[in-house]
Amino acid sequence: MTDSLISSAYSQALEVIASVEPRIAEATRQELADQRGSLKLIASENYASPAVLMTMGTWFSDKYAEGTVGHRFYAGCQNVDTVESLAAEHARELFGAPYAYVQPHSGIDANLVAFWSILANRVESPYLEKLQAKNVNELTEADWESLRHELGNQRLLGMSLDAGGHLTHGFRPNISGKMFHQQQYGTDPETGLLDYDAVAAKAREFKPLVLVAGYSAYPRRVNFAKMREIADEVGAVLMVDMAHFAGLVAGKVFTGEEDPVPFAHLTTTTTHKSLRGPRGGMVLAQEEFAADVDRGCPMVLGGPLSHVMAAKAVAFAEARTTEFQDYAQRIADNAKSLAEGFLSRGANLVTGGTDNHLVLLDVSSFGLTGRQAESALLDAGVVTNRNSVPADPNGAWYTSGIRLGTPALTTRGFGHDEFDTVADLIVDVLSNTEAGTTKAGGPSKASYVVADGVAERVTARSAEMLDKHPLYPGLVLG
Ligand SMILES: *Cc1c(COP(=O)(O)O)cnc(C)c1O
Repeated sequence: MTDSLISSAYSQALEVIASVEPRIAEATRQELADQRGSLKLIASENYASPAVLMTMGTWFSDKYAEGTVGHRFYAGCQNVDTVESLAAEHARELFGAPYAYVQPHSGIDANLVAFWSILANRVESPYLEKLQAKNVNELTEADWESLRHELGNQRLLGMSLDAGGHLTHGFRPNISGKMFHQQQYGTDPETGLLDYDAVAAKAREFKPLVLVAGYSAYPRRVNFAKMREIADEVGAVLMVDMAHFAGLVAGKVFTGEEDPVPFAHLTTTTTHKSLRGPRGGMVLAQEEFAADVDRGCPMVLGGPLSHVMAAKAVAFAEARTTEFQDYAQRIADNAKSLAEGFLSRGANLVTGGTDNHLVLLDVSSFGLTGRQAESALLDAGVVTNRNSVPADPNGAWYTSGIRLGTPALTTRGFGHDEFDTVADLIVDVLSNTEAGTTKAGGPSKASYVVADGVAERVTARSAEMLDKHPLYPGLVLG
């Protein structure tokens, strides 16, 4: 019943699209075929349910709703209010958070909202007092100067990019590295693990206003109680960016001190990674920051994407179920199987393993850069992304690592045996790939040569697994 409804709904929608721009209908069909046919190991990607996807394709997209529930700058927002209230209510319940702001359009937007809320809440400035008293018009030039000076002189301490942190955690080319004086903490050079004593020492010395925890490429769990202790000791606000692992928090795999929400002043996230919702962001906050976060639009954000907020509500409703908790546990179990698969075949992993949803494979033992490995794997239908390893000799462009995540293939139903095979396929490709040479005959960090027949052999073995675990089983396009 549901399968045939979904099949006919999408078939008809594509016909409607084709009647206006057939090439877009064709690209949409092709994208489904490509996703179905590839081994997707990108740690930040997933497959949202048809209910989540369909919710995004409605007339809620047409409505402007700047402001907050009940306080909009536009008339006629009663249904958007229903949607936003429900999404926020589900989020608060799902994560046990006092306050949830579901308007951010993406993870980066969520972080910008959090940064500006912290500045508004913690930096004393005559401008901010007047803004909060709604007397913006009374600001003098001296007030503005004071604002620029005070907001522009705050400090942020985040995890460095090559240790697994994110661009928005103070990396120079990102606005977070320009609007704050920033310093970064890394991981222990021997073990690759987060060293809380080193983070604490750095925090004591640097005295940041904001301590950011969270990561995009760190294959281990974090103790957020310890991070909060460090923040409290130096008077910093703890902001945790759980963009990658929100699904493991929602699914109750990360509990106690591994659940950031009770410990962080503000927790930010995307909704489309392990959480498996629509492409978007969210900020969870303690009461103290709620009013500041609520000013995200129009402070930082434009009009909310009401259709996406609706889809967030649907995704959160899915994430409340025991099926989702089971899914989240399988994500972590499968990452272990993948890691063991590599280790038993002699490959090197950063930190020697994983206890979350991702593994970071160091490809230097194969004589390759991350870029060569990524390309060779893609030729065999294995979709990954290259990633720096700690103190990477090849830099952030070529890199020496490959990041692999289990959320997407776990959604397709892959389990222990399949992930063991995935490790086998990857080792097969990499051990049969050689670094190429530059035009001048020197060693190249980009070109590579894969031995004959490898791509065909790997593609055939992955096709077998992909056929056995179809993406959107039952969805047949007419
Ligand atoms: C993915 C990610 C983001 C950014 O999310 P977008 O939706 O792409 O803006 C932010 N922080 C972390 C830790 C991430 O992994």
